[in-house]
Amino acid sequence: MTARAKNQYLGFPEVRTAAAGQWEQIHRSLGIQLASTSHLKHTPCPACGGRDRFRIDATYQNTGRWICSGGGDLQSGDGFSLLGHAYGWTPSEQLQAVAECLGLTNASDRERETLRRKAEAQAAAMLADARRKDEQARRDANILSALQDLEDLIKHRQYLQRQAHLTSSLHRVTINPLEDELSAAYTLNMLILEIYASQGSNDQ
Ligand SMILES: [Zn+2]
Repeated sequence: MTARAKNQYLGFPEVRTAAAGQWEQIHRSLGIQLASTSHLKHTPCPACGGRDRFRIDATYQNTGRWICSGGGDLQSGDGFSLLGHAYGWTPSEQLQAVAECLGLTNASDRERETLRRKAEAQAAAMLADARRKDEQARRDANILSALQDLEDLIKHRQYLQRQAHLTSSLHRVTINPLEDELSAAYTLNMLILEIYASQGSNDQ
Protein backbone atom coordinates (compact mmCIF):
# COMPACT_ATOMS: atom_id res chain seq x y z
CA MET A 1 0.00 0.00 0.00
CA THR A 2 1.44 3.38 -0.97
CA ALA A 3 1.64 6.22 1.50
CA ARG A 4 -0.87 8.22 -0.53
CA ALA A 5 -3.44 5.44 -0.77
CA LYS A 6 -3.12 4.84 2.95
CA ASN A 7 -3.60 8.52 3.63
CA GLN A 8 -6.89 8.62 1.71
CA TYR A 9 -8.51 5.80 3.60
CA LEU A 10 -10.63 6.73 6.61
CA GLY A 11 -11.52 3.87 8.91
CA PHE A 12 -13.65 3.45 12.02
CA PRO A 13 -11.05 4.95 14.42
CA GLU A 14 -10.86 8.24 12.49
CA VAL A 15 -14.60 8.58 11.83
CA ARG A 16 -15.38 7.59 15.42
CA THR A 17 -12.99 10.30 16.63
CA ALA A 18 -14.67 12.90 14.41
CA ALA A 19 -18.15 11.76 15.54
CA ALA A 20 -17.42 12.04 19.28
CA GLY A 21 -19.72 14.61 20.85
CA GLN A 22 -22.06 14.73 17.83
CA TRP A 23 -23.96 11.45 17.84
CA GLU A 24 -27.38 12.91 18.50
CA GLN A 25 -27.10 15.22 15.45
CA ILE A 26 -25.62 12.41 13.33
CA HIS A 27 -28.43 10.02 14.17
CA ARG A 28 -31.07 12.69 13.68
CA SER A 29 -29.75 13.68 10.26
CA LEU A 30 -29.75 10.00 9.29
CA GLY A 31 -33.40 9.73 10.28
CA ILE A 32 -33.09 8.28 13.79
CA GLN A 33 -35.03 10.44 16.21
CA LEU A 34 -34.51 9.71 19.90
CA ALA A 35 -37.55 9.99 22.16
CA SER A 36 -35.32 11.24 24.98
CA THR A 37 -31.74 12.45 25.36
CA SER A 38 -31.61 11.22 28.98
CA HIS A 39 -29.83 7.93 29.58
CA LEU A 40 -32.16 7.34 32.53
CA LYS A 41 -35.31 7.18 30.41
CA HIS A 42 -36.61 4.00 28.82
CA THR A 43 -38.34 4.84 25.55
CA PRO A 44 -39.65 3.15 22.43
CA CYS A 45 -36.76 2.02 20.21
CA PRO A 46 -36.19 4.39 17.26
CA ALA A 47 -35.33 1.26 15.24
CA CYS A 48 -37.71 -1.50 16.33
CA GLY A 49 -40.46 0.32 18.23
CA GLY A 50 -41.97 -1.18 21.37
CA ARG A 51 -42.90 0.90 24.38
CA ASP A 52 -39.91 1.16 26.76
CA ARG A 53 -37.32 -1.27 25.39
CA PHE A 54 -34.69 1.29 24.45
CA ARG A 55 -32.33 3.61 26.24
CA ILE A 56 -29.13 5.44 25.41
CA ASP A 57 -25.95 5.02 27.42
CA ALA A 58 -24.67 7.83 29.66
CA THR A 59 -21.81 8.27 27.14
CA TYR A 60 -24.20 8.46 24.18
CA GLN A 61 -23.25 11.88 22.84
CA ASN A 62 -19.58 10.84 22.74
CA THR A 63 -19.91 7.20 21.75
CA GLY A 64 -23.44 6.79 20.37
CA ARG A 65 -23.86 3.81 22.69
CA TRP A 66 -27.38 2.36 23.09
CA ILE A 67 -29.18 -0.64 24.55
CA CYS A 68 -32.38 -2.22 23.20
CA SER A 69 -34.06 -5.21 24.81
CA GLY A 70 -35.79 -5.78 21.45
CA GLY A 71 -38.67 -7.73 22.94
CA GLY A 72 -36.38 -10.25 24.66
CA ASP A 73 -33.53 -10.13 22.15
CA LEU A 74 -31.07 -7.85 23.96
CA GLN A 75 -28.90 -5.79 21.67
CA SER A 76 -26.47 -2.96 22.23
CA GLY A 77 -23.65 -1.20 20.49
CA ASP A 78 -22.08 2.06 19.45
CA GLY A 79 -23.40 4.88 17.28
CA PHE A 80 -22.53 3.02 14.08
CA SER A 81 -24.34 -0.16 15.00
CA LEU A 82 -27.57 1.70 15.80
CA LEU A 83 -27.71 2.31 12.03
CA GLY A 84 -27.41 -1.42 11.55
CA HIS A 85 -30.22 -1.99 14.06
CA ALA A 86 -32.44 0.59 12.33
CA TYR A 87 -31.72 0.00 8.66
CA GLY A 88 -29.89 -3.33 8.48
CA TRP A 89 -26.80 -1.58 7.11
CA THR A 90 -23.48 -3.44 7.08
CA PRO A 91 -20.58 -1.98 9.08
CA SER A 92 -19.01 -0.49 5.95
CA GLU A 93 -22.33 1.12 4.99
CA GLN A 94 -22.61 2.50 8.54
CA LEU A 95 -19.08 3.89 8.30
CA GLN A 96 -19.75 5.47 4.90
CA ALA A 97 -23.01 7.10 6.07
CA VAL A 98 -21.46 8.64 9.19
CA ALA A 99 -18.40 9.84 7.25
CA GLU A 100 -20.68 11.49 4.68
CA CYS A 101 -22.81 13.00 7.40
CA LEU A 102 -19.70 14.61 8.92
CA GLY A 103 -18.51 15.84 5.53
CA LEU A 104 -15.41 13.65 5.76
CA THR A 105 -15.67 12.21 2.26
CA ASN A 106 -14.66 15.61 0.93
CA ALA A 107 -12.00 16.20 3.57
CA SER A 108 -8.58 17.26 2.34
CA ASP A 109 -5.57 15.00 2.84
CA ARG A 110 -4.39 17.36 5.54
CA GLU A 111 -7.71 17.15 7.44
CA ARG A 112 -7.68 13.36 7.16
CA GLU A 113 -4.13 13.22 8.45
CA THR A 114 -5.03 15.42 11.44
CA LEU A 115 -7.98 13.16 12.21
CA ARG A 116 -5.83 10.06 11.90
CA ARG A 117 -3.24 11.47 14.33
CA LYS A 118 -5.98 12.39 16.80
CA ALA A 119 -7.47 8.88 16.57
CA GLU A 120 -4.04 7.33 17.13
CA ALA A 121 -3.40 9.58 20.13
CA GLN A 122 -6.78 8.61 21.60
CA ALA A 123 -6.11 4.92 21.06
CA ALA A 124 -2.69 5.29 22.73
CA ALA A 125 -4.25 7.15 25.67
CA MET A 126 -6.88 4.43 26.08
CA LEU A 127 -4.21 1.74 26.03
CA ALA A 128 -2.13 3.60 28.63
CA ASP A 129 -5.23 3.99 30.78
CA ALA A 130 -6.02 0.27 30.51
CA ARG A 131 -2.43 -0.57 31.49
CA ARG A 132 -2.65 1.73 34.51
CA LYS A 133 -5.87 0.03 35.59
CA ASP A 134 -4.30 -3.43 35.15
CA GLU A 135 -1.36 -2.38 37.26
CA GLN A 136 -3.70 -0.99 39.93
CA ALA A 137 -5.72 -4.23 39.93
CA ARG A 138 -2.52 -6.27 40.29
CA ARG A 139 -1.43 -4.17 43.30
CA ASP A 140 -4.88 -4.40 44.91
CA ALA A 141 -4.85 -8.19 44.51
CA ASN A 142 -1.35 -8.42 46.03
CA ILE A 143 -2.37 -6.31 49.02
CA LEU A 144 -5.53 -8.30 49.64
CA SER A 145 -3.56 -11.52 49.50
CA ALA A 146 -0.88 -10.17 51.86
CA LEU A 147 -3.59 -8.99 54.27
CA GLN A 148 -5.17 -12.42 54.20
CA ASP A 149 -1.81 -14.10 54.89
CA LEU A 150 -1.23 -11.85 57.88
CA GLU A 151 -4.72 -12.42 59.22
CA ASP A 152 -4.32 -16.20 58.94
CA LEU A 153 -0.98 -16.09 60.79
CA ILE A 154 -2.40 -13.93 63.57
CA LYS A 155 -5.36 -16.28 63.98
CA HIS A 156 -2.96 -19.19 64.15
CA ARG A 157 -0.99 -17.48 66.93
CA GLN A 158 -4.22 -16.75 68.82
CA TYR A 159 -5.03 -20.44 68.56
CA LEU A 160 -1.57 -21.42 69.87
CA GLN A 161 -1.98 -18.95 72.70
CA ARG A 162 -5.35 -20.43 73.75
CA GLN A 163 -3.85 -23.92 73.68
CA ALA A 164 -0.90 -22.82 75.81
CA HIS A 165 -3.23 -21.12 78.24
CA LEU A 166 -5.32 -24.27 78.63
CA THR A 167 -2.32 -26.48 79.34
CA SER A 168 -0.73 -24.02 81.75
CA SER A 169 -3.45 -22.95 84.17
CA LEU A 170 -1.03 -21.25 86.54
CA HIS A 171 0.02 -18.26 84.52
CA ARG A 172 -0.95 -16.53 81.40
CA VAL A 173 1.35 -17.50 78.53
CA THR A 174 2.13 -15.02 75.81
CA ILE A 175 3.30 -16.22 72.47
CA ASN A 176 5.21 -13.53 70.64
CA PRO A 177 4.54 -12.84 66.98
CA LEU A 178 5.97 -15.64 64.92
CA GLU A 179 8.62 -15.03 62.31
CA ASP A 180 6.18 -15.76 59.45
CA GLU A 181 3.80 -13.21 60.87
CA LEU A 182 6.44 -10.50 61.02
CA SER A 183 7.49 -11.35 57.50
CA ALA A 184 3.87 -11.09 56.27
CA ALA A 185 3.48 -7.71 57.98
CA TYR A 186 6.71 -6.58 56.33
CA THR A 187 5.45 -7.68 52.88
CA LEU A 188 2.19 -5.82 53.39
CA ASN A 189 4.07 -2.73 54.44
CA MET A 190 6.28 -2.87 51.32
CA LEU A 191 3.23 -3.23 49.04
CA ILE A 192 1.61 -0.18 50.61
CA LEU A 193 4.82 1.82 50.29
CA GLU A 194 5.02 0.79 46.63
CA ILE A 195 1.58 2.35 46.03
CA TYR A 196 2.59 5.61 47.68
CA ALA A 197 5.81 5.66 45.64
CA SER A 198 3.92 5.14 42.35
CA GLN A 199 1.37 7.82 43.24
CA GLY A 200 4.22 10.21 43.87
CA SER A 201 5.73 9.51 40.46
CA ASN A 202 2.33 9.86 38.72
CA ASP A 203 1.85 13.33 40.18
CA GLN A 204 4.97 14.63 38.52
ZN1 LIG B 1 -34.59 -1.86 19.01
